[in-house]
Amino acid sequence: MSETVATPKPAIRRGEEIELVLEKFADRGKSLTRVGGYVVFVAGAVPGDRIRAKVFKRKKSFAEARLLEVLEPSPLRTEPRCEYFASCGGCKWQHVDYPAQLDMKRDAVAEALSHQGGFDLEALGIEVRPTLGADETYFYRNKMEFSFSANRWLTDWEIASGEPLDKTFALGLHVPGRFDKVLDLQACYLQSEWSAELVNAVRAFSKENAWDPWDVRKHTGYLRHLVLRTPTHTDEKMVVLVTSREDADRMALFAEFLKRDFPEVTTLVNTINSTPAQTAFGEKMINVFGPGVVHDKLGPHTYEIAANAFFQTNTKQAEKLYEVAAEFADIKPDDLLYDLYCGAGTISLYVAESAEHVVGVELIEEAVANARANAAANGVKNCTFVTGDMLKLFTPEFVEEHGRPDVLIVDPPRAGMHPKVVKQIKRLKPAKLVYVSCNPQTQARDLEQLGDAYRIEAVQPVDLFPHTHHVENVVKLAAT
Ligand code: SAH
Repeated sequence: MSETVATPKPAIRRGEEIELVLEKFADRGKSLTRVGGYVVFVAGAVPGDRIRAKVFKRKKSFAEARLLEVLEPSPLRTEPRCEYFASCGGCKWQHVDYPAQLDMKRDAVAEALSHQGGFDLEALGIEVRPTLGADETYFYRNKMEFSFSANRWLTDWEIASGEPLDKTFALGLHVPGRFDKVLDLQACYLQSEWSAELVNAVRAFSKENAWDPWDVRKHTGYLRHLVLRTPTHTDEKMVVLVTSREDADRMALFAEFLKRDFPEVTTLVNTINSTPAQTAFGEKMINVFGPGVVHDKLGPHTYEIAANAFFQTNTKQAEKLYEVAAEFADIKPDDLLYDLYCGAGTISLYVAESAEHVVGVELIEEAVANARANAAANGVKNCTFVTGDMLKLFTPEFVEEHGRPDVLIVDPPRAGMHPKVVKQIKRLKPAKLVYVSCNPQTQARDLEQLGDAYRIEAVQPVDLFPHTHHVENVVKLAAT
């Protein structure tokens, strides 16, 4: 920051076209370079690219420019597979070679540890391991949520095609930064070929029947979201149609259409969301046919997944993530383990066999109910799940009631842990601590707050979301 204050007025103006060579990856899938004292961010570019770009934002210390043309491509570049890449919010990194994506994720973890965490990695001898990549970088999601919209976003090539286009109906994914506009996706490589076929057929069916899509400004329209769940380890398939109201006749027609054209669908759920909130959750869920759930596996355990349940969207990489957490926890047969922020208990179950007992804590009551049901269904008897807010629940009394843990596994949400929770961990100071995180920056901040109570022993990033900048990171800590 001090560098920007000291520099003379930089030669960069809003609206100006400039030539840049990108230096490094930045936050949120962008790349950056420095011009004068300015840091310039460009979305869609890759470090090493020489580009022509137009400055559209200029603040005190940074600017943002729009990529106009790649004059000389970086060796890290690759051809994006998807024709919607330039407009879609789904995968911002498809133009980056996969090994470079993995390097970038490792660098992001190292940078968070040194910047947010204040760790001198070299002096401390901490080495961030290479990111554990996915074998399948496309078709890896077991769940996709598509949106219906009365406002279709047209891509440049759709406009250039000169063909007549219906702008009042779209079924697909949102354009980044445009809550109201949806791309009418004819293809998507995130879930499966089958899913893309189903999306196209549902669109055609809806238009044939003149069903109206949601209008986000007027709050009108019947069709809101189409959610598809395609578990990795079973052939079951769930379709969830989210609508703004109940309409039994329409739903019967929709069920008939699915049974005829997509007999692979094992269950159809109709979720009703009559509120303006743009979510696939609603006030009511109706089982139209089938059991209303699908099953998937993580390791040896089978999970029942309802329409609104949380489940890791990349099954195979979640298994790798849990494997790392289990290895780092180094559990002994008589260990008492706490799995904090346990969701539906997937980590608890994954490690239960190696421990004497596991205590899971989770805020959301439905998730705890799922955790208990999952444990029972898999014959796991040594897990206790407790509902509550970590901030209020995780007290000395709690520890007295449930026992002093030998190992802690924590997996908090993006915001990380509350400082008081970190303090309590410091006070409790179990010998082993494993911190799983989907946000390396808040993770590094929390680790810094642990101070000298713990020593970092290993750092392992895992890629659950190829072609996005998201990274999961697991840190192994030992009490000092
Ligand atoms: N370990 C699980 C879930 C991790 S996601 C898995 O791998 O699937 C983080 C979880 O923390 C969510 O389930 C969220 O509901 C829960 N959570 C968020 N804030 C919390 C709090 N203050 N106390 C307890 N749990 C919380």
